[in-house]
Amino acid sequence: MLGGHLSDEPSSELPHGEPPIRVMAIHALEYCERLFYLEEVEEIREADDRVYAGRKLHEERVPKLDDDSRELRSFEVSSDELGLFGKVDAARVRDGGWIAYEHKKGRCRRTKDKSKTPGVWPSDRLQVAAYAMLLEVQISKPVTEGRVRYHQDNVTVSVPIDQSARADVVAAVARMRALRRSSNRPPVTDNEKLCRRCSLRVVCLPEEERLASQPPQERAKARLFPARREKRTLHITSVPANVSRSNRSLVVEVDGDKKRMPIEQVDSVLLYGGAQITSQAVQMCAWENVSVQWISGGGRVLGTLAPPGRVRQRIRQFEALRDANFCLKLARQTVNAKVQFQLQYLLRGTRGNESARSSITKDIELIKDAITKLNKDGDQETLDRLRGFEGIAAKAYFGSFSALLNERVPESLLMTKRTKHPPRDRLNCLLSFGYSLIFGLVNRSLLAVGLDPAFGYFHQPRSAAPPLVMDVMEIFRTLLWEMPLVGSLNRRQWDEDADFEIRPGHVWLSDEGRKKAIGLFEKRLSESYQHPYTGQSLEYGRMVELEIRLLEKEWTGCPNLFGQLRIR
Ligand code: SF4
Repeated sequence: MLGGHLSDEPSSELPHGEPPIRVMAIHALEYCERLFYLEEVEEIREADDRVYAGRKLHEERVPKLDDDSRELRSFEVSSDELGLFGKVDAARVRDGGWIAYEHKKGRCRRTKDKSKTPGVWPSDRLQVAAYAMLLEVQISKPVTEGRVRYHQDNVTVSVPIDQSARADVVAAVARMRALRRSSNRPPVTDNEKLCRRCSLRVVCLPEEERLASQPPQERAKARLFPARREKRTLHITSVPANVSRSNRSLVVEVDGDKKRMPIEQVDSVLLYGGAQITSQAVQMCAWENVSVQWISGGGRVLGTLAPPGRVRQRIRQFEALRDANFCLKLARQTVNAKVQFQLQYLLRGTRGNESARSSITKDIELIKDAITKLNKDGDQETLDRLRGFEGIAAKAYFGSFSALLNERVPESLLMTKRTKHPPRDRLNCLLSFGYSLIFGLVNRSLLAVGLDPAFGYFHQPRSAAPPLVMDVMEIFRTLLWEMPLVGSLNRRQWDEDADFEIRPGHVWLSDEGRKKAIGLFEKRLSESYQHPYTGQSLEYGRMVELEIRLLEKEWTGCPNLFGQLRIR
């Protein structure tokens, strides 16, 4: 059923400058108004297996236009008056009249009685009616029938193009125009079954929104967000190395050795140092929404291939993050999450080790005190005060960091104090490189989700670093890097000579060390963690995208889901 909370009288007039809408969008509208909005207004499209299967069907089974004037196949139609455009699968003359045909891969609808008579689904009826009306305009002849062919059932169902069908198409166009003018996403559908088959469930996160209205003890686990990364990140660390394109694959060439990787299996290409990539490969990555990042040998992100801007999403982001109180609330959530991680990790990492625990008691008390103060809801709260508490906690945390390392870790891998630009010892070098990996991951995830990394809520635009990346990565530092790094140090996985390059005033990772750090990070991304809010167990590599989508929900009507991650 079409919804009706936005008033817009059906009209056959297309307002000046308003572009027509593709007929396929009617399908999304009938399925779920939110799906229509995400696809047609925000231009978010994720082709899942069913969508690909449908496309393939159209490509394979519908031949191209031929010269037979009594049969037309796969041709474009449009009408400014109707406000629609699209591609008709086929049109044929039967009994002297033209009929529009629509091909569907799936099954037809059946009556619930014993006869199980085949019928059309409401969205298919509207779609074929729209094509019939466009066909009329195209051929200047009346079209009174449409037919939908359901290939899985091998059944063709007739649809009368009567006044009722025409009125429904006009109403659908009016509704789509009204939604297109709105700057708010429609709510998630009440029909949970629709979400299970929806291609945009990963973007929409309907379960997470529904959970927000349920008491914690009654919450079921969210299941629709994919728990695992299905694609791989290509880290090109060797020099010389070249990435090129061959058909639908990326070809990585190192020292004459070539490896092909189908583009469907890649989520990002990261080029370190002087690694090269061809324009053709970059173009394919842009087309397939595969992120490309150029990274210096020291781990600094130099640039990211940005997908075309999601204008509505960004406008909503800008509007929300212009509100100082709203930014303060998000900043508190973020700092709270970060400092809680630091406290919990120090407690966990020294559990059962009395001497280590007693050596850091003072720092633990300082961090606890910072948490208490930053959670006090005072009128005096400012971003600067939050920064102050964050700074106190960070100083105490890194002051106690060595207590997390066991006696097998050599002196050369310990830290006297945190030094960043540049790192002056091996441990600082490892910390900085890992943070830069998180920075790159958050940066490309923000772009993939459709947010502008340059517009944040906590960090100020004082350097080239995009503030929103700096904001979001705060909640991942301990979880994604400090914890696995400490584990690897305690297992003596680092070679104090071969893995580092010691220069006057700074320490870099060697090629070997860089590869090792990337391997450790990727391994961490493939480990699982149960999200404390959604109850879902998912890989850390999926967690970053989920948190960014939950962040966006802070300003799209479902707040307080972001930044709830904690160490168990
Ligand atoms: S996931 Fe559900 S609510 Fe979201 S767009 Fe799809 S059908 Fe609609």
